[in-house]
Amino acid sequence: MTMLDVQNLSVEYKIQGGVLRAVDGVSFTLKRAESLGIVGESGCGKSTIAKALLQLLPKNGKISGGHVFFDGDDLVGKSAEEIRKMRQKRIALVSQSAMNSLNPVHTVGKQIIEAIRCHSRMSVKEAYARAVEVFSMVGLEEKRLRSFPHQLSGGMKQRAIIAMALSLEPDIIIADEPTTALDVVVQGRILQRIQKIHKEISSSMIFITHDISVVSEVCETIMVMYGGRVMEIADTDSFFRAPYHPYSLGLQNAFPSITEIGQEELVSIPGSPPNLSEPQEGCRFHVRCPFATETCRTEEPPLEKVRDDHYSACWYNDKVESFRREAGKRDT
Ligand code: ATP
Ligand code: MG
Repeated sequence: MTMLDVQNLSVEYKIQGGVLRAVDGVSFTLKRAESLGIVGESGCGKSTIAKALLQLLPKNGKISGGHVFFDGDDLVGKSAEEIRKMRQKRIALVSQSAMNSLNPVHTVGKQIIEAIRCHSRMSVKEAYARAVEVFSMVGLEEKRLRSFPHQLSGGMKQRAIIAMALSLEPDIIIADEPTTALDVVVQGRILQRIQKIHKEISSSMIFITHDISVVSEVCETIMVMYGGRVMEIADTDSFFRAPYHPYSLGLQNAFPSITEIGQEELVSIPGSPPNLSEPQEGCRFHVRCPFATETCRTEEPPLEKVRDDHYSACWYNDKVESFRREAGKRDT
């Protein structure tokens, strides 16, 4: 069953001297209990998608086109009040900055119980039991409910935030770089937990990160973004076996698997992402693409099916074998 159907979503920010199109015609769907990873370098529009889905865009941002069907209802056009009501209970956001959103003057237990009661008719006792349950899901002991935020380590605080989001059994969990402030080992553990839990409570999951190795371990589907557009969207296995887009080939070379971090030199893609406040011509990636031709400089490639559950927006999808060889990747 489709939980979320995003069609042609565009988001713009008003900036000095014009507009910046941060998300440009993005479409994807998310089934119940499916997990989707959104990856791409800094500034490609990942967080903007999350904020647009939750209607949490800042004042200068607006959805300038498209639809977001959630459980069949179009969220675009709903009032802020309607969205607020459904937001936390049905779509939960776990972000890096959420770590600082815990109130320092109350115990985490008090905060989680209040959050639960705010969205349900549970008594304090029932809410407490629920808090204990979600705490144990994320591997926190009951006694931690009596801790103040400053008494918890970064990893524990992050798990408390995740527990709070899970306590409402949301239909969709959006995790926007939830673990980047934490060390690699803690990150890995937390990710495994989130993955297990979203299956247990059959929530769908959107995982946002700039590190594709994380997605390979956590998500069934991967969406690669560049300059506000989708470059490739695919079943994760298919993607890691045989990526199609030259940008994806570059990303795969740029990130070793999570277990190898620190042991291998990272090769980054030469150049930097486009300035989105300027009009774009051709393929967004052409300036940095080692395989770009005149066509790429002038015409924007559509997202095309290359295999079952695998789409890539490149004029030269059929030349991918030679691209992979040159990029040092093999199709197995
Ligand atoms: P990161 O990996 O660094 O979190 P991201 O992929 O989440 O990046 P976004 O934060 O969605 O990227 O930003 C997309 C584009 O929109 C960037 O060019 C950014 O500068 C711009 N942008 C984001 N927020 C605003 C804002 N409030 N006003 C103007 N421009 C913004
Ligand atoms: Mg972001």
